[in-house]
Amino acid sequence: MKAGRVQSIIIVGASLAGLSAARALRAGGFGGELTVVGAEHARPYDRPPLTKDFLRGSCSTADLALEADEDLGARWLLGSAAVSLDAATRTVGLADGTTVRADGVVLATGADAVDHPLLPVGPNVHTLRTMADAERLRAELGDGRRLVIVGAGFIGTEIAASAAALGADVTLLSQDAVPLRRALGEPIGDFLAAEHRAHGVRVIAPARITDVDRAGRADEPPGAVTALRLADGTVLPADVVVVGIGSRAATGWLAGSGLRLAADGGVLCDESGRALAAEDADTDRIDPGTVDAGAGGAAAVVDGVVAVGDCAAWWDPYRGTHHRLEHWTGAVERAGIVAGVLLDTPGRPCRAPYFWSDQYDLRLQVAGVVSGHDELRIEEGSVAGRSFLARYYRAGEPVAVLGVNQPRLFTRARRSLGAGPAAGPSAVSAGAGIGTSGSAADGSVGNTVDGTGTALAS
Ligand SMILES: Cc1cc2nc3c(=O)[nH]c(=O)nc-3n(C[C@H](O)[C@H](O)[C@H](O)COP(=O)(O)OP(=O)(O)OC[C@H]3O[C@@H](n4cnc5c(N)ncnc54)[C@H](O)[C@@H]3O)c2cc1C
Repeated sequence: MKAGRVQSIIIVGASLAGLSAARALRAGGFGGELTVVGAEHARPYDRPPLTKDFLRGSCSTADLALEADEDLGARWLLGSAAVSLDAATRTVGLADGTTVRADGVVLATGADAVDHPLLPVGPNVHTLRTMADAERLRAELGDGRRLVIVGAGFIGTEIAASAAALGADVTLLSQDAVPLRRALGEPIGDFLAAEHRAHGVRVIAPARITDVDRAGRADEPPGAVTALRLADGTVLPADVVVVGIGSRAATGWLAGSGLRLAADGGVLCDESGRALAAEDADTDRIDPGTVDAGAGGAAAVVDGVVAVGDCAAWWDPYRGTHHRLEHWTGAVERAGIVAGVLLDTPGRPCRAPYFWSDQYDLRLQVAGVVSGHDELRIEEGSVAGRSFLARYYRAGEPVAVLGVNQPRLFTRARRSLGAGPAAGPSAVSAGAGIGTSGSAADGSVGNTVDGTGTALAS
């Protein structure tokens, strides 16, 4: 799209990715009409503290604000969900029946938490995605409250740590035999499980829920959950339940838009965030360009429509597949890239993915792509000392780095990881599907050694 043609841009999603895109567009010289549409009534706010300080009550709603004292000269339509997009005409339909047409569209609608089939959100069953979710959960946590967390990913483990700090009696259920194994590798998952146990959290791994007991009579509407039953016969009484088993891109409203969506709802994009046209879309009508969009070779991108943040499945040269990156830093950095696409001022390519997690007094920082590694080495510090730098390798090449309470060393190691996909797993198995993340295909981690070359127990 040529910059001169772009007089108006609509951003759908008024959170981190949407706000970052608005900032990047203005910083990039866009002086036209900017509209930001958000389903929530709140101004953009930060989500990482929702499982951490905010849940523990040590930061306030005001502390979550993402905006500084700034005026982006945008029209904010908050509390106003988009319900449709016609990619051909770049027209967004809103819930109140109005439409907004623009020269450029930024899709930044994030993701929704996935429900557990036996545990839909209800009286004492929670998921955690929004400030309202966190406030509702916080009101139910406290000393001695029996909390069962279903899912031991980052959301589940962070909530476990915060709830334990609040004095709750916490049980953490992991589907996998080792929590976070696919995200961080087995030895690191074991280390974190031990940390949780040391803080009084009951970690059950693997765990499979077969039934749920509820208050009230069978002929009454489903009441509060009173206990979870596991396949091995364990009965877990519960006052509060949190389900943290993953997310789906919040893109149900894009059905029939002319865009191509992944199985998990992600908006399929090329490696600059340009949305791909649906295979059955009338691509003459939507003014496509043809680009090398990755694995599938050439694909039609929709002119003037980009996606960023948790809703977007960009072609990921580090993984060799499309991937929905659900990390804070990715949302911010990639917003700059999509702004460049709309303004026809291409910028730097994506950096290797980065995220962090805070659990107890541990700060975990990860850069690169852990999935597909075949070797993990502790290169500085020690696991026993709870402060170390680990590097992940694939076929002898470093592909990711993890720092635990090692911010300085991590920053240096992150830089040395390289500036481009060459540093990533160039030959990630073709079996790695869209939106998947994991360790080696069989889940094993080979040759795991500490800084002295000693094998780590797993
Ligand atoms: C609880 C939690 C903790 C996290 N902790 C960390 C962490 O420690 N480290 C890290 O790196 N990352 C963390 N993340 C990830 C990070 O916060 C996300 O990657 C980031 O918020 C993505 O921003 P986004 O704008 O794409 O999506 P979101 O922040 O989800 O925002 C999307 C917005 O779009 C709105 N929307 C949805 N549908 C529509 C529609 N149809 N019309 C209009 N608006 C719509 C939503 O209401 C929402 O306001 C965490 C995420 C969560 C939820």
